[in-house]
Amino acid sequence: MTVICWFRRVLRLDDHPALVAAAQDGPVIPLVILDPAEAAAHPASAQRQAMALPALSAALQAQGSRLVVRRGDTAAVLAQVIRDSGAVAVHASEGMPFARDAGLEGVTGAAGAVLHLHPLADLVPRGSVRTKTGTGFKVFTPFWRALRQTGIAAPLSAPRLTPPDRWPASDGPDWPEARVAMNRGWDVVAPHIQAGEAAANHRLDAFLDRVTSRYAERRDRPAEGDATSGLADALAVGEISARRIWHRALDAQHHGSGGIEDFLRELAWRDFSRDLFHASPDMDRLCWRKEWNGFSWEPDGPAADAWRQGRTGVGMVDAGMREMFVTGRMHNRVRMIAASFLIKHLMIDWRVGLDWFARCLVDWDAANNAMNWQWVAGCGPDASPFFRVFNPDAQGTKFDPGHRYRNHWLDPDAEGARQFAQAAPRSWRIDPADRPPPMIALDQGRQRALAAYRSFARRDAAAR
Ligand SMILES: Cc1cc2nc3c(=O)[nH]c(=O)nc-3n(C[C@H](O)[C@H](O)[C@H](O)COP(=O)(O)OP(=O)(O)OC[C@H]3O[C@@H](n4cnc5c(N)ncnc54)[C@H](O)[C@@H]3O)c2cc1C
Repeated sequence: MTVICWFRRVLRLDDHPALVAAAQDGPVIPLVILDPAEAAAHPASAQRQAMALPALSAALQAQGSRLVVRRGDTAAVLAQVIRDSGAVAVHASEGMPFARDAGLEGVTGAAGAVLHLHPLADLVPRGSVRTKTGTGFKVFTPFWRALRQTGIAAPLSAPRLTPPDRWPASDGPDWPEARVAMNRGWDVVAPHIQAGEAAANHRLDAFLDRVTSRYAERRDRPAEGDATSGLADALAVGEISARRIWHRALDAQHHGSGGIEDFLRELAWRDFSRDLFHASPDMDRLCWRKEWNGFSWEPDGPAADAWRQGRTGVGMVDAGMREMFVTGRMHNRVRMIAASFLIKHLMIDWRVGLDWFARCLVDWDAANNAMNWQWVAGCGPDASPFFRVFNPDAQGTKFDPGHRYRNHWLDPDAEGARQFAQAAPRSWRIDPADRPPPMIALDQGRQRALAAYRSFARRDAAAR
């Protein structure tokens, strides 16, 4: 009895609980669905997924299997493939934090197949790390301590797959809707991506070979690109599992590598954000601290456009926005600086920034993005308080002391600035030589944000 394994952002054979279960159930049809709605909402992330498919397809072929790729509305495609193949079951990973599962059981059931949803191979199952009183953690450090004492399950090996008697048709790995939605063009981001399960494993090995006890210090310096693993996009599309990374990192630690404990701690932030998102699935739209939903943010508009287009006149912010537009990534420290500038100096709603990151990042992850934006805004559970306003220039002096990062993206003759000028849509009218003055004096912006915060805090206290 043929079954379908629906690869939902778990684009690998290793440590894939849904695939292992499917292989035990019968001959397997591996299926990927490219939904135009997803491509329109998250084009860079869609491109990143599409780029993972040739490697996945080759890995399946090496096993005597195939990858069936179908384009269209998720529910309609799923029902169609079940009918075309006569499959009796669909095995898939849970959709959160990227997609909702509501209604899927009805879709597969109506087409004649039972749906089995399997947990993602994160470090720990959602909601399993609890406080002594049995509630979820709201602060990272105690969450981390508890997680560190938990045994992290060993990764599962790739299963042997039996092919079905007949294969349903496949559309091939192209995702035209994502190409159209990429307003900077597919070819801009592609050279910055190394796709595929083998490439992700190779990146992990290379990182574990070079990581030292200076990881925690170096990871804050955007000019030191090799200081971190660069695995966020591979994790976001599921080319490698967090459990596999964890256990390989522990092996490296046993062999004497420094910095591993700090690295594991960073990795655990990802599980923490998933835990929070699981408990508050509207966290990407509503402030986790409910009182903040009454804060008077500025709406989207020309100031937000200047931020998106990397022309605020503030070096670290513009460099970061350009880096993201060209490569689909932005250094973590610079993400904090750029987000803080939007929220505090421009006082623009954090969701405006969250949405732009969700469109541009190849490592877009709904839970990580929401938790981090709320962290910067001060409205999340374990957040940096609103009155902590980053000074982007001081941050630049501290973390980019030689201006190497800023020069790469801002100096008109530098490679990064040239790439950005080519990538930017014509309507942005980017002149590489044009360096506008800061759109707001940094101290003035800070004072305005603090005054707004004080008046908000007074109103909130009075309302209680
Ligand atoms: C405003 C803002 C938005 C962000 N949006 C996203 C997003 O959409 N997707 C995303 O994956 N990360 C997001 N991050 C977190 C972080 O910037 C990236 O995960 C980071 O750049 C990863 O680079 P790396 O893989 O080289 O990190 P490494 O230092 O090698 O860390 C290893 C892994 O740990 C996890 N990790 C590290 N830092 C964080 C963090 N702060 N929060 C959650 N997980 C973390 C990531 O999975 C990362 O791949 C955001 C951060 C900020 C400040």
